Amino acid sequence: MAISKPEGTEDLLPESMRFYRTFVDTAFRVFARSGYAPVETPLFEQTDLFVRGIGEATDVVSKEMFTAISGANLQKVLAGEKLKAKSRLSLRPEGTAGVVRAIAQNGLVTQGGAPVKLMYAGPMFRAERPQKGRLREFHQVGVECMGADDPSIDAEGIIMLMRFYEQIGIPRENMRLLLNSMGDATCRPAYRDAVRDYILAHEDRMCEDCRTRAEANPLRAFDCKKPDCKTIMADAPLITEALCYDCRDHYERVKTYLDASGIAYREDPTLVRGLDYYTRTVFEIQVDIEGMGSQSAIGGGGRYDGLMHEIGGKDTPGFGFAIGYERCKIALEAAGVQTASASTCDLFIACVEESTRAEAFTLAQRCRDAGLSVEVDHQGRSLRSQFKLADKLRARKVAVLGPQEAARGAVNLRDMEQHTEELVQQSDLPQRL
Ligand code: AMP
Repeated sequence: MAISKPEGTEDLLPESMRFYRTFVDTAFRVFARSGYAPVETPLFEQTDLFVRGIGEATDVVSKEMFTAISGANLQKVLAGEKLKAKSRLSLRPEGTAGVVRAIAQNGLVTQGGAPVKLMYAGPMFRAERPQKGRLREFHQVGVECMGADDPSIDAEGIIMLMRFYEQIGIPRENMRLLLNSMGDATCRPAYRDAVRDYILAHEDRMCEDCRTRAEANPLRAFDCKKPDCKTIMADAPLITEALCYDCRDHYERVKTYLDASGIAYREDPTLVRGLDYYTRTVFEIQVDIEGMGSQSAIGGGGRYDGLMHEIGGKDTPGFGFAIGYERCKIALEAAGVQTASASTCDLFIACVEESTRAEAFTLAQRCRDAGLSVEVDHQGRSLRSQFKLADKLRARKVAVLGPQEAARGAVNLRDMEQHTEELVQQSDLPQRL
């Protein structure tokens, strides 16, 4: 039986890979303008990092984490032995916890120093039920800024994110930026209790998931898609009325900055996002384009002032967001934006007969060393078939090398678009291209 790719994963074939590169390069270019620098952290971390950072009661940690067991430890697990914390590993379900861990471990935030601004791109893993726009291995581009609690950091991040979406081609009119404040350690506990009590008061009409959530993670009930739960949650207490003075002030100032930059947003007091670590600002970008499917969130994030402390580091405020690559690609395709691009090759060296093949090979190497992308025939094709291949590879020029050209140290250089041809010295080829 042929083995196929695991459920919920995708191969990034060369065409997709080209777009993925463009996507990441564009994001990094936009974010670098605000001082963000690239970083890469391990694809797996100690499970405890995610449990403590993201929160045990979140769906991501409680249901969707892929745990990794190294060969030797598998025997221990099968024998019922408990692994030490450092051997309990999980594939990263998101990027923030790892980057925050790296910032803490490497002491990047210094007393009185400027905020640390990092950006990353790569695969994330969640054991979700796969559907269009929801994968088990997907790709995110994200940023994290640690060491400053000013609302200007939140606004700066949101603005550069919206600039990125525009730059990559998501139509502005199809995007919706939802904004909320989730409060902080001062005001959220009381609000959380109020929502829990509200759910418990209506539990007979709510689904089992929401009833379970009431104690562990009541705010998640706002995300429930069941009609009855939605109706009941529509009248639940709202965070907006429960914010303390500092949170309210922070939220107002974020909005003032966004207004000043002409960024349109919609306040949504029920936006809670799935991860436990958020404090104050949270936001999500949704797209509304026919053919997009039900997974409309193309990115989101917020402030996480308690996360560093939660994972054992010094109390350090943080802000970040992540963009879903696959969903953006679906959105762009639904909007009719071209994401596929063919590769191009600078030069195809075609040999007229077998006797010039070795010379064509050497010439190709010389041109590659000079920085050109060059292809030659490796299969003894006829000249006609080499031209067909050059066409398929979208070669800009074809250098025809026959015994006569070879004797003069030259090639016949044909321009595939202009259909012109001229004799060019082999040593001049790199400059001519
Ligand atoms: P989150 O880390 O949950 O805040 O997600 C940030 C973004 O990543 C979302 O807005 C989605 O675009 C994307 N995303 C999250 N989970 C998945 C998934 N399972 N498959 C594809 N994209 C995802």
